[in-house]
Amino acid sequence: MPRRTVILGAGESGTGAALLAKHLGHDVFVSDKGTIKDKYALDLKDNNIAYEQGLHSEELILNADEVILSPGIPLTVPLVKQLKKNGVPVISEIEFGARHTEAMLIGITGTNGKTTTTLLTHHLLQSAGIKVGLAGNVGHSLARQVIDNQFTHYVIELSSFQLDLIFETKFHYAILLNITPDHLDRYPSYQHYIASKFRITQNQNENDYFIYCEDSEPVANYLTEHPTNAHKLPFSINHTVDEGAWTDELAFHINLYQPKIKFKMDLNQLTISGKHNTYNSMAASIVANSLLIRNDVIRESLMDFKNIEHRLEFVTAVKGVDYINDSKATNVNSAWYALESMKKPVVWIAGGIDKGNDYSSLVPLVKEKVRILICLGKNNIALHQAFSKHVDMIINVTSAKEAVQVANGMAFKTEVVLLSPACASFDLFESYEDRGRQFKYEVRNL
Ligand code: ADP
Repeated sequence: MPRRTVILGAGESGTGAALLAKHLGHDVFVSDKGTIKDKYALDLKDNNIAYEQGLHSEELILNADEVILSPGIPLTVPLVKQLKKNGVPVISEIEFGARHTEAMLIGITGTNGKTTTTLLTHHLLQSAGIKVGLAGNVGHSLARQVIDNQFTHYVIELSSFQLDLIFETKFHYAILLNITPDHLDRYPSYQHYIASKFRITQNQNENDYFIYCEDSEPVANYLTEHPTNAHKLPFSINHTVDEGAWTDELAFHINLYQPKIKFKMDLNQLTISGKHNTYNSMAASIVANSLLIRNDVIRESLMDFKNIEHRLEFVTAVKGVDYINDSKATNVNSAWYALESMKKPVVWIAGGIDKGNDYSSLVPLVKEKVRILICLGKNNIALHQAFSKHVDMIINVTSAKEAVQVANGMAFKTEVVLLSPACASFDLFESYEDRGRQFKYEVRNL
């Protein structure tokens, strides 16, 4: 009897896992409680993979030898609890894909900056001619890609939900960018969320590298209490480090002992700006240097990397006012970095669905930089409470169009209009992408 592999959730990761399982000759079944997108349904049909949508038929799922769970499905749903109770292994698509490749795995996690750092690391390796794949939350799923096995390296963006279902995968390079409170609706406590992020190191030994931000307190504290076997390469913008990366006023520096490398990059040459992107650039460059990519290639790649949509994306200037789209800033910490990196007075557009935000960390920056706050959300009470004393004016709006028109009417020449909401978008928009695109459309229409 072939091994029965059941996949719950048929997005990119679930469909990729189904294709790999089929390729391996398993008896495959895919079940999605929602509606499967046409392109994935077609993939399944074309490959004769049995699937259902709109329900989970327990009799077809509980008989699995192994279940691959999409990151969107919480571990607490009754079906998953039942599987675990029955002793059926439940794993992530990354764990499944990683079993079937010999490629070197570079895993990247953190509360913020995962996508940027994953794309930057991929860009650095690809520019050096390495056959490198992009997987995890960005690009195609790992499982789909390992079927052809054409890559020698994979750079993989890992959310905590994926890490929760990784057990044996070993990352030769594991990057942990930062930890701040997020997703507390899916974890019993902040400590659980922190521990979940650290699963990225769980199978590393002294031949592997753990690259982490020493300035992130939860990261540094956890590491003191739970030492890792990996070779540690910290990065910091607050102090120098012996082995790893650090900054002075003008440049960031990297020092490695094995292989022996020294590298320096002027901060003003980085195409992605802001302290947060200095961190992201240091982390990616440590990997590139450690892989012996030539200094000039690393430097050039850091100078021509294009920032991705919705992350501190410069839209255009209208009558001397710069417009910046940072719609992806869906939590307080990412908005902090956006405000921190602003060099001009700010008309700040924020708001949306507040996930229990504590805005106090933003107050000093708002006092210093924000003149007007435009609240783009259905319920803006928390923003008013946090900031009414610290800005000249607060205005409520309920559409991107209104937000941009108000900003256009209020912003002075040499100011910047920054959309960096610190909140999720689902009250007024379909997604953060939709919010960012509507914002850009309205700005370009001014
Ligand atoms: P993720 O994939 O972890 O959500 P992104 O790279 O998509 O991260 O960036 C999400 C948001 O976080 C953006 O608003 C971006 O400006 C901000 N950001 C990026 N890197 C960092 C970082 N290292 N620390 C804090 N905020 C960051």
